[in-house]
Amino acid sequence: MTGMLKIRKILTGPLMTNTIILSSKGSCVVVDPGGEQKKIIDDIEMNGLTPKAVIATHGHFDHVLGASQLQEKYHIPLIIHEKDVDMMRNSGTMMNSFGIAESFTPPSKIETFTGKMDITIGDHEITLNETPGHTDGSICIIGEGFILTGDTLFRLSVGRVDIGGNQDELVKSLKFLLSFPESTKIYPGHGEMSDLRFEILNNVFAKNVMSKNTLY
Ligand SMILES: [Zn+2]
Ligand SMILES: [Zn+2]
Repeated sequence: MTGMLKIRKILTGPLMTNTIILSSKGSCVVVDPGGEQKKIIDDIEMNGLTPKAVIATHGHFDHVLGASQLQEKYHIPLIIHEKDVDMMRNSGTMMNSFGIAESFTPPSKIETFTGKMDITIGDHEITLNETPGHTDGSICIIGEGFILTGDTLFRLSVGRVDIGGNQDELVKSLKFLLSFPESTKIYPGHGEMSDLRFEILNNVFAKNVMSKNTLY
């Protein structure tokens, strides 16, 4: 392993999504472009990076708003779990039901997967791993010593399941995430970063999942 995988966070869009740029050796992927694509593109250009893909941790509009613009500029696919493709395509409708009057253009080049998918960035490898619950097609992105948890696990909270989700699935996915080493850093789709040790000690949902296999 030569050099660190760089993790940069940019706050984007109407729901303050954590857009994450993972980069190594001039190559990068953009995770969860929540809008304000100019901000994302400026960051990519300023750091001299070549994007190879946009990745959505799930199909909610606040994680895919800037995807088509990034795709147009860099000719890269949007990678998303197969089960969240329809939700992603309907992002405009869902966004309007939230009272947000932005427009959404669905990306045209989409790559889907189920289960797991490995991606190489420079000399690092990350694994996209399905973790359903917040939505049927929610994924987490696992790297060395860190996990991008999307809207599945937050600092001191977990994702809601009332917009296309399932609570039993969320419990299973949280158990999977909490089984990683306690020193693992987590970068959620919203809010502050954390690590698994802090969540196991302080996050009431994580504690319940560990002790009695349920959220409440
Ligand atoms: Zn969400
Ligand atoms: Zn979100």
